[in-house]
Amino acid sequence: MNNNEIKEELREKGIKNTKAKGILLHILKNTQGPLDVNTLHGECQKETSVNLVTVYRSLQQFHERELVQEFLAKDGVVQYEYIHQGSRAHPHFQCEKCNKVLCLGELGFDDALHFSNMAKQHKVNSINITLNGVCEQCL
Ligand SMILES: [Zn+2]
Ligand SMILES: [Zn+2]
Repeated sequence: MNNNEIKEELREKGIKNTKAKGILLHILKNTQGPLDVNTLHGECQKETSVNLVTVYRSLQQFHERELVQEFLAKDGVVQYEYIHQGSRAHPHFQCEKCNKVLCLGELGFDDALHFSNMAKQHKVNSINITLNGVCEQCL
């Protein structure tokens, strides 16, 4: 992994660089789709010894600094997804049978504007759209 790039990104966000945070950010950046805390913890454990609470706290900090977005899956488990710079919000598809969450294509500028306008005078920070159904593997 590119250590310097990860370190620089943490520094820019004002997050203290630790081995565990570096590994966690690297995993998040290289994963397509949201992951829950237990899965992320398992992935981190392959690289270094780290406890679940540390992973959880790091994720909360990443979320506060807008490195990741939180995503509440249908089973009530919070999942985390890295926010790629310059990318627009994208809807997710969640399978009702296997609970898998898939990323769909990014919203176009007009789509994003349309949803922001729906909020009228409220300030929109993020847009979360989830389509529920049955994925092609489970059909
Ligand atoms: Zn499925
Ligand atoms: Zn996504």
